Amino acid sequence: MSEDEPAVPLVRARLMGRVRQKNSAPELLVRSALHRAGFRFRLHRRDLPGTPDIVLPARSAAVFVHGCFWHRHPGCRRTTTPKTRADFWNAKFARNIERDAAAIAALEEQGWTPVVIWECEAGDAELVVSRVARSDAEVRRLPLSPPAEPGRDRGRPPPRGRAVAD
Ligand SMILES: [Zn+2]
Repeated sequence: MSEDEPAVPLVRARLMGRVRQKNSAPELLVRSALHRAGFRFRLHRRDLPGTPDIVLPARSAAVFVHGCFWHRHPGCRRTTTPKTRADFWNAKFARNIERDAAAIAALEEQGWTPVVIWECEAGDAELVVSRVARSDAEVRRLPLSPPAEPGRDRGRPPPRGRAVAD
């Protein structure tokens, strides 16, 4: 899979499908980014609240890759509302939001750190990796491309001259 592949809008396809579609294109992008960054993870832990798409046991991080339309990414242009049957859609969206919030609360209660990656963000490997990395107090050195700003970027980039083992 190419990392340059855009996270294409899946709204049309997913209108026909289920909300929690497994192995969606955005999810595959996120997995790919995490894999390249050296994270170890497991998929679709049904025993955890909300069945997180990706679980990183070492970091106690539970990642959801959310479709912007279904899960209502605030302020996102993909978060449209169909004109017809608005009541139906709004009720459906409200249930999704409620379910997501309940899953996140339950995960936190169990000591997990929930991380939400929105569909429109899934193609940005660096963003994905940094968000998951931030989910843990431990700041790790990650084999990312060089930082845009030399020096400090949330303390993440490695000091120059020291090889990043991979
Ligand atoms: Zn979005």
